[in-house]
Amino acid sequence: MGKCKLCGRGEAKIRLAYARLNLCRKCFTEKFFPNRVRRTVESYKMFPADASVAVAVSGGKDSAALLHSLREAFPAVQLVAVHLNLGIPEYSEAAERSVEALCRSLNVELKVYRLKDEEGFTIGDFKATKYGGKLCSVCGVVKRRRLGKIAAELKVDALVTGHNLDDTVESLMATFTGGDFQQLVRLKPVLPAQPPFPRKVKPFYRTPEREALLYAEILGLPFSRRKCPYLPGSRSLRGKRLLDLWEAEEPGFKYRMLAAFEKLIPLLEQAVPQPEYTYCRVCGLPSSQPVCADCRRIEALKGRKAA
Ligand SMILES: [Zn+2]
Ligand SMILES: [Zn+2]
Repeated sequence: MGKCKLCGRGEAKIRLAYARLNLCRKCFTEKFFPNRVRRTVESYKMFPADASVAVAVSGGKDSAALLHSLREAFPAVQLVAVHLNLGIPEYSEAAERSVEALCRSLNVELKVYRLKDEEGFTIGDFKATKYGGKLCSVCGVVKRRRLGKIAAELKVDALVTGHNLDDTVESLMATFTGGDFQQLVRLKPVLPAQPPFPRKVKPFYRTPEREALLYAEILGLPFSRRKCPYLPGSRSLRGKRLLDLWEAEEPGFKYRMLAAFEKLIPLLEQAVPQPEYTYCRVCGLPSSQPVCADCRRIEALKGRKAA
């Protein structure tokens, strides 16, 4: 691969085909990667350099790379890590241990919310409900609500999530082909605050998944490699594999998808208005329906338990 294109001295070890760039490990971890995070946060005005933010950390490579690179890119930002323990056998224990090790090594405050302890159920319990065939989507709803609530209690300026380029492009493809244009708009990198929930932002919006893994590996950050046992065969993994094939044939494809999406957003926002938000009559939190998605799922769970 020759010499690093940035410093001209180091041995290039990392090839970024979409940018025709070969980098040494040092330039990748100390410059290229955190610089892109900084530029992403700044160009989409995610939060100011002196903000306080809650970072959702799952225990995997993305959240490890996210927490570390945010600290590098924004030394004055006040970070608090938030971890949800979903009660998934083995997977969740390993995830929580990784998150603890990560936050200890980075000296970042950590809040852990254990679903089983706080609310008496786990994600697996939904298998017995009518939502059982869509555990990933239930999990998404459950996480979103609780992360939002915790971020609201912490009174932070933003809730930061580790969604990377591949996550976004995969969701774009799936949402687009599903014809759900209202949902498509919600894939943008900044979602406005919905009191009491703070705004939601994605600093890894332009960071490929492979590079988050490289970053976490090169720096030796603690993270769990366990895959969620409910995930194999999921739509999102299949979609990502297909997108990787496309990207290998046509480097830069994922970024072009993102660029096209960004041109589409203002048009969609005009043509497809977002639903009116009211308040859930069960929990009182913002919802587009009389009873929010979270409460409907919890109801289904209670129904099962009583039966
Ligand atoms: Zn270099
Ligand atoms: Zn509700």
